[in-house]
Amino acid sequence: MGSIEDLRRSALDRGIPIMMDDGIEFLTDYIKQNNVKNVLEIGTAIGYSAICMARVGCNVTSIERDYDRYLEAIDNVESFGLSDRINLVFGDALEVDIDGEFDLIFIDGAKGQSIRFFEKYEVNLSLDGSIITDNLNFHGLVKDVSNIKSKNLRSLVRKIINYRKYLENNDKYVTKFYDIGDGISVSEKK
Ligand code: SAH
Ligand code: MG
Repeated sequence: MGSIEDLRRSALDRGIPIMMDDGIEFLTDYIKQNNVKNVLEIGTAIGYSAICMARVGCNVTSIERDYDRYLEAIDNVESFGLSDRINLVFGDALEVDIDGEFDLIFIDGAKGQSIRFFEKYEVNLSLDGSIITDNLNFHGLVKDVSNIKSKNLRSLVRKIINYRKYLENNDKYVTKFYDIGDGISVSEKK
């Protein structure tokens, strides 16, 4: 494995749903501007976003339930020399237990489960921490749910809409939504 661009290409070529370029830029800018030291990521895939985040200076703990992706992430993290800064955890994020406090939680796992991830892991959030979630537009489908033909897809998109409402109505946090990448939210503790 060579550059970050090679890693990005390799993921895209195999249909692995990594974060989009402007999403990565947003996330890494957020980390730099807010001096984020520790990130907890739900959904490692092959380590692309974890590597991008660690490269700007923070520590990342990242959870992945697909064993092959987890193994590949280990190799990728090693080849970027970031094994001391990225802690990879194999397992279902709804089942594993993670100790410690994080100033950023990045939710990028199964899209229908974001509320459950949010509620399970907010106890790991530092006092002035924030939670960022990816794929809140879901390829633009969130805007046009009634036209979705597939019942399963419609149900998934409804869950994303539901998560957006959950964030809007959660008065412990102030949430901002951005039409960047595939739709990103930033929820900051009040
Ligand atoms: N953050 C990555 C992309 C993650 S894709 C990047 O931008 O580079 C979403 C990943 O979440 C998939 O690999 C999927 O296997 C994993 N995932 C989905 N639900 C999960 C869960 N409950 N626990 C752990 N991993 C999960
Ligand atoms: Mg994503």
